[in-house]
Amino acid sequence: MKKISEGIYFIKGQDEMIPDSHTYVLGIPGSGDLSIIDPGLTGKGKYKINAMLDGGIDLNSVKRIILTHSHFDHIGCLSEIKKFVPQAELWVHENEAQPLEDGDDKIVYGMEMFKNMCIAQYNIASDAFRFQVDKKLKGGENLNIGDMKWEVVFIPGHSPGSIGLYNKSKKVLIPGDVVYSDYAIGRFDLYGANSSDLKESLFRLATLEVDILLPGHNQVVMDLPPGYISNTAKQWANYL
Ligand SMILES: [Zn+2]
Ligand SMILES: [Zn+2]
Repeated sequence: MKKISEGIYFIKGQDEMIPDSHTYVLGIPGSGDLSIIDPGLTGKGKYKINAMLDGGIDLNSVKRIILTHSHFDHIGCLSEIKKFVPQAELWVHENEAQPLEDGDDKIVYGMEMFKNMCIAQYNIASDAFRFQVDKKLKGGENLNIGDMKWEVVFIPGHSPGSIGLYNKSKKVLIPGDVVYSDYAIGRFDLYGANSSDLKESLFRLATLEVDILLPGHNQVVMDLPPGYISNTAKQWANYL
């Protein structure tokens, strides 16, 4: 686990044949009010929990798990992680919360072929992605969690309930799979994706002042050039 800034910790995804999302832990140590952002791929729960323990995280102080979205590479090890933090609530955008509560896994897998592959690869039960969601986010919330302020930004397109978390004072953005380093953006061909929503979401993010970009995959960027997200949005606009 790597410290990005006070109250922001990074656990690198451990990609396999399928990528594993990065996991972030948010909250000032000592607040007793920590949040885990995006557990990651099936089978990676132990690795993520061990990284937290090695980093000195008190698992009793984990109060919630927030999903940037519910794709398999982000939610796969949620049930593994929940065993270690049974007290933690689950917070998800309302567009993806209802399917999770219904056990509808179309968004989780994104496409039938991928579902069959995952089930064969990981021996997953057919009802593995049914979860109770404790807080259904809408976007626009100003969360006061872990002695920090995080704004929930609704940025659909890569998935119907994608959210970003933005800390204005530190200029930190956790955009899930919407925008990455190297002018890359999230795919928009999976179930529930929408390219014009993604375009709008990119331009929405472009209005934020961001110095530190903490995406779901690939490089973390500690000194994002000014206008980076805006330039990324413009580069992709014609394809979306
Ligand atoms: Zn995704
Ligand atoms: Zn992902």
